[in-house]
Amino acid sequence: MEKKSLFIRTLGCQMNVHDSEKIMALMETSGYESVDDIGKADLIIINTCSIREKAAQKVYSELGRLKKLKTIKPELIIGVGGCLAQQWGAKFIEKVPCLDLVFGTHNIHLLPELIAKIQKERIPVVHTEFHESVNSLGISVRAKNGKVSAYVTIMQGCNNFCSYCVVPNLRGREESRPLKEIVDEVKVLADHGVKEVTLLGQNVNSYSGTTGNGHAFADLLQKMGEIEGIERIRFTTSHPKDLSDALVSCFSEVDKLCEHIHLPVQAGSDRILKMMNRRYTMTDYFDRVDKLRTVCPHISITSDIIVGFPGETERDFQATIDMMEKIRFDNIFSFKYSEREGTAAAKLGDKVSLCVKRDRLQLVQSLQERHTLSKNRNLIGNMEEILVESISKNSREDVAGRTRTNKIVNFRGYNNLIGKTVSIVITDAYLHSLRGVLTEEEVTQC
Ligand code: SF4
Repeated sequence: MEKKSLFIRTLGCQMNVHDSEKIMALMETSGYESVDDIGKADLIIINTCSIREKAAQKVYSELGRLKKLKTIKPELIIGVGGCLAQQWGAKFIEKVPCLDLVFGTHNIHLLPELIAKIQKERIPVVHTEFHESVNSLGISVRAKNGKVSAYVTIMQGCNNFCSYCVVPNLRGREESRPLKEIVDEVKVLADHGVKEVTLLGQNVNSYSGTTGNGHAFADLLQKMGEIEGIERIRFTTSHPKDLSDALVSCFSEVDKLCEHIHLPVQAGSDRILKMMNRRYTMTDYFDRVDKLRTVCPHISITSDIIVGFPGETERDFQATIDMMEKIRFDNIFSFKYSEREGTAAAKLGDKVSLCVKRDRLQLVQSLQERHTLSKNRNLIGNMEEILVESISKNSREDVAGRTRTNKIVNFRGYNNLIGKTVSIVITDAYLHSLRGVLTEEEVTQC
């Protein structure tokens, strides 16, 4: 059977990137192969995100371009999945008539069936129902040749209902994959040469896939640490209120667990945290950071910060700045608050003006740039263990990898180093990366 071509555009977070990998794995079993040229595709899928306003705007401009493609090639099938598809459902097709398919976050597993139906009947299909169980959770993604790192979903959905967030409405309630299924998938990845796995979920530390001693995620990390061939384990994202002592201890007990944690703080004012329904105070957060740094002094801590939440006063904002000065994150993702339909925060009054949000965001970002640069410069002269991932984006003569603390390092080297763990001396530091040289010992072995 002649293969058909599939092009997937992914917008948003790592969960979406991994969902796209699952879509590709699933459609490969139905005779599709991936293409990089959108013009050659028989099927185009846009995997959307609606967490940030910008991501939603991107989808509409992308679909505008696809409309022209469909005029030239009427048999082309265009589908939209992910959070925005879940949110908009049939309204998406009313708004963008060139669409053939809208599928929700619980319906990825139905894709081959839905595409076959469209091919046969040529009428638009919308599937955004929530199922009792997320059937796509168990779809395994084969490691591509030469791929060093892989994502593995361990849970999906969220029970937290932070007041600004649409995820619980669009991804449903938390559901964890059974531990054995995850272990088996990681073993297969290791057999295919994967050295590093990132365990994914909206709130990985409330993972509950093992029988309850309350430490299910810590237990999972211990199990991951025993899998032969896997050298590095990462995870994202964590909720500060669920960061247990057992999980903190893993940073000293599980050798393969990399010394990095993404721990979204969102704001430095207890009043705002309460309005956000985050269910921790700054005292709790500082306490978690202290514990992490006691167990693992050189751990890198990154975070998310939202500025301009409704009702955020100058005083509240100053508390965010003070918190950043106290903690000195390695890096952050920072955003202006943007209202999401259907959330509790959308009903709050006392909105902060766009102009004030912009000013506050700029202050947060410039402070963080100073901290990131200073932290990176402190690494100059250090010897770091780097897992080499690819040829560098900056130069064909360089390769790139990451430190265990998740910082990108570029250095002179050839592609025979990809997949190897090498020792590098850091020679220069920038805002987004480090530069280094192979140690003399490594040069001799190369
Ligand atoms: S923890 Fe809060 S911010 Fe994160 S996905 Fe759940 S509701 Fe959204």
